[in-house]
Amino acid sequence: IHLMQQNIGDHERMTGYLRKSDSTAKYLLSLVNDILDMSKLQSDKMVLVPKPFSVDELVSTTESLMRSRMEDKEIDFRVETSIICSNLIGDDMRIEQILVNILGNAVKFTPKGGRVIMRVLQSAEGERILTTYQVEDTGCGMSPETGRHIFEKFYQGDNSRAREGNGLGLSIVRRIVELHSGVIVYKSELGKGTVCTLTEPGNRW
Ligand code: ADP
Repeated sequence: IHLMQQNIGDHERMTGYLRKSDSTAKYLLSLVNDILDMSKLQSDKMVLVPKPFSVDELVSTTESLMRSRMEDKEIDFRVETSIICSNLIGDDMRIEQILVNILGNAVKFTPKGGRVIMRVLQSAEGERILTTYQVEDTGCGMSPETGRHIFEKFYQGDNSRAREGNGLGLSIVRRIVELHSGVIVYKSELGKGTVCTLTEPGNRW
């Protein structure tokens, strides 16, 4: 902002400074949100707000939130769904937060020209619907040692570009998944890519 004040008439410089200040503001916002979420979780103040929502809408909102970041890195972003009941009861804002986080890591750790697939699959278990969200990337993958620690607070693997994260994302994700009585599992191979599978039970409405 200081540089903008000094270069107000220089369109080209202003465009560059605006782009930088936009990404810095987004980074700061996500940092503040992560810190707030973490302190809510630590004082048991995070509560889910279950309400009727549409899985189809959740998928398309998440897709559009992520699409431009994928395009910036020329990543082939695919969405595959097999939904038997779109009308579920749950905290869709928190599920969206989880997906954006996992997909954000997938973009971050996948080089230009790679591929990311988001799958949403369902199966019925009596009255309950099990929804599986899966994110697969062709990124750098992680070592078994990194894989053992990814859900720990402030942990960043040695593949991590520390400037772009804070190591809080997946520890928050796991705690929210547990609040939903869900399960999250990562499978990864160094140099090959990563698959994150998250299963959550839900009721129809
Ligand atoms: P951050 O992304 O801020 O570093 P996270 O808690 O989101 O923190 O992730 C923790 C670590 O897990 C990352 O630093 C990285 O080492 C590893 N990781 C997470 N997702 C992926 C992925 N899709 N591919 C490779 N490594 C990953």
